[in-house]
Amino acid sequence: MQLTEHFTLDEFTRSTTASRLKIDNSAPDDLMPNVKLTAIKLELVRKALGKPIIITSGYRCPALNARVGGVSTSAHTKGLAVDFKSSFGTPKEICQRLIDAGVQFDKLIQEHNQWVHIGFSPSNNRQIVLTAIKNSGKTVYVNGLI
Ligand SMILES: [Zn+2]
Repeated sequence: MQLTEHFTLDEFTRSTTASRLKIDNSAPDDLMPNVKLTAIKLELVRKALGKPIIITSGYRCPALNARVGGVSTSAHTKGLAVDFKSSFGTPKEICQRLIDAGVQFDKLIQEHNQWVHIGFSPSNNRQIVLTAIKNSGKTVYVNGLI
């Protein structure tokens, strides 16, 4: 199912972990408005980068989210966040570009120099920017891009 010009529902729900564990990661009907909103916002992300983006994790049902160690309140479980990469550049370069381009988001996280997490809110996008780093093996979030 095509959500927007460049994004399909399958890109939001496919998960190798879910397939391996036989978890049904389909997005429930009541979350479809959120998933569609996220796709619309991602079109603006794609436009700001001028390059395609590859979603590595989109919607996560509660069972999948728990298995991948996500916090239970994760925006991924509401269909309002994705993790992605892009040939545009490094996660830090991507984040900087999105900030410079004035892209609206609730939370933008440069994750361990490996991927970008972006989350949206239907009502109030807070423009929070964080960097995830490992500290003694534990993930910690620090303000801004480092
Ligand atoms: Zn994420």
